[in-house]
Amino acid sequence: MKIEMVDLKGQYRKIQEEIDTAVLKAIHEANFINGPEVASFTKNLSAYLGGAHVIPCANGTDALQIAMMALDLKPGDEVIVPSFTYVATAEVIGLLQLKPVMVDVDPVHFNITKANIEQAIGPKTKAIVPVHLFGQCADMEPILALAKERGLYVIEDTAQAIGAVYKFSDGTQKQAGTMGHIGCTSFFPSKNLGCYGDGGAIYTHDSVLAERIKMVANHGQVKKYVHRYIGVNSRLDTIQAAVLDIKLKYLDQYSAARQAAADWYDQLLSGIEGLQTPERAMNSTHVFHQYTMLIKNGKRNALKQHLEAAGIPAMVYYPVPLNEQEAFHAIGAVVGSLKETELLCASVLSLPMHTELTEEQQIFITDTIKSFFKL
Ligand SMILES: *Cc1c(COP(=O)(O)O)cnc(C)c1O
Repeated sequence: MKIEMVDLKGQYRKIQEEIDTAVLKAIHEANFINGPEVASFTKNLSAYLGGAHVIPCANGTDALQIAMMALDLKPGDEVIVPSFTYVATAEVIGLLQLKPVMVDVDPVHFNITKANIEQAIGPKTKAIVPVHLFGQCADMEPILALAKERGLYVIEDTAQAIGAVYKFSDGTQKQAGTMGHIGCTSFFPSKNLGCYGDGGAIYTHDSVLAERIKMVANHGQVKKYVHRYIGVNSRLDTIQAAVLDIKLKYLDQYSAARQAAADWYDQLLSGIEGLQTPERAMNSTHVFHQYTMLIKNGKRNALKQHLEAAGIPAMVYYPVPLNEQEAFHAIGAVVGSLKETELLCASVLSLPMHTELTEEQQIFITDTIKSFFKL
């Protein structure tokens, strides 16, 4: 049985005709940059997100960088980030000569918390970057209230959580990435809405900010040959937009397939001593970019090897806290203990998770896990 972490070929086969037609059309029309597919996808994604402005760009890392450039942060300004995330979140902060201030995450849902943010706020703090890790939203209501009270920007990194919905205490529901000042996402092929190359987008509800983001992403340009800001060149290709415009129609179906696979894993793995299946947050749906378990008693690496010996891929996201990466030694700061992050780095293990997983594959995977625990 061939099992992959992510089955992009199987997903493509189901929509092959639609995709092939759209991609060939884009090629024949030869509007490779800013073709009509880019406008169409941007409009449809905006509608999906409840009307937020959407500015497409070249990848999720650029989205974060452009967001911070558009907020006009100054060298030395501090930006609070979780220490348990992908490097890109903090990398752009360093690139712009801002200071990443890293804080611990909640050990149950793996996301940044209001309490950890609060202790890291100082006179130079300007922004917070909550990362909606593995597919569920950080608990945003208290974080947004804190940010408002302290006059801080909130930039959501929603590269892993497109389609997740957060519920506020008054019953209002919002899409991941549309709650803060700016949301940043990625269309990297293995993300929940992935294209066939690189892609990303920036969201905001603020029309003034949207204009500025658009300019920053396009050489700081107001109109042709008039440049107001130092910007970058970051675009979503027409061909990638053509793919995304089709896949967006299936996004809710894709999320449902991931959720069904996660529920099935939960059932098959219930009651195993020494293994904790992923907990669902109270206020957020979970779109399962990853299905991440905690393996206790120092057995994580041995289980990973046991799975790999049976031909089952399993991944450690993430093995090292950000602050321990050499790149951040000189520029990063840590506030509080990173006890939970360290524990997570030593015990997380992500199982194959995608839209094409079969029950048969999942039984094979979980039987292999049970054999490791001698069950
Ligand atoms: C994938 C990812 C990014 C970066 O996206 P790219 O498109 O690869 O640049 C940023 N943050 C998080 C949390 C991610 O998972």
